[in-house]
Amino acid sequence: MSDTYLRLVPSDPDYRPTQDAAEAAVRLLTGFFPRSNGVRAEAEPGVVFFDAGGNTESIACPACGADLMDWWGDAMDSAHAGGFRDLSVTTPCCKTRTSLNDLVYVWPAAFGSFALEVANPGAPSIADAQRGAVEEMLGSPVKAVWQRL
Ligand SMILES: [Zn+2]
Repeated sequence: MSDTYLRLVPSDPDYRPTQDAAEAAVRLLTGFFPRSNGVRAEAEPGVVFFDAGGNTESIACPACGADLMDWWGDAMDSAHAGGFRDLSVTTPCCKTRTSLNDLVYVWPAAFGSFALEVANPGAPSIADAQRGAVEEMLGSPVKAVWQRL
C-alpha cells in the first residue's frame, strides 16, 4: 500500500509562522483529519521542494503551457546548487520571466521552508473552508501538495 502525505506550504517560500501559530494549525488539522496517521509541523533550515511524488504528471510554462519536463531537471539542479535562494527562471519556450515556484505543476508542488504535514489523511481533498481556516491561523495563503509515495 502506498502512503499519501498532504502538505500545506505557505505561498512565500521563506515564510515561517510563529511556533504558537504552527501548533494551533496542527491541532486544527488533527480535527479536520481524524483518521490520519498524524499531523506535524515541519520546519526546514532552508528552502526545500515539496513534490507530489508519484502524483506528478506534468510541469508546464505558466505563460504558454509548453511542456517543461525536460528543461526542468537542469533548472532545478542550478537552483538547488544555490540552496534554492533564487528561484527565478526564464522559460525556454516563450522567454517568460517567472519562478520555479510558479510553474504549472500537475499535481501541485511547492517550494517552502515550512509545511504542515498530514500523514495518510484518509480523505481525498481538503475543503476550501478548512484551508481558509489554516491560512488564517498561519497568517499566510498556502498551497496544498498531495504527495504519493
Ligand atoms: Zn512558455
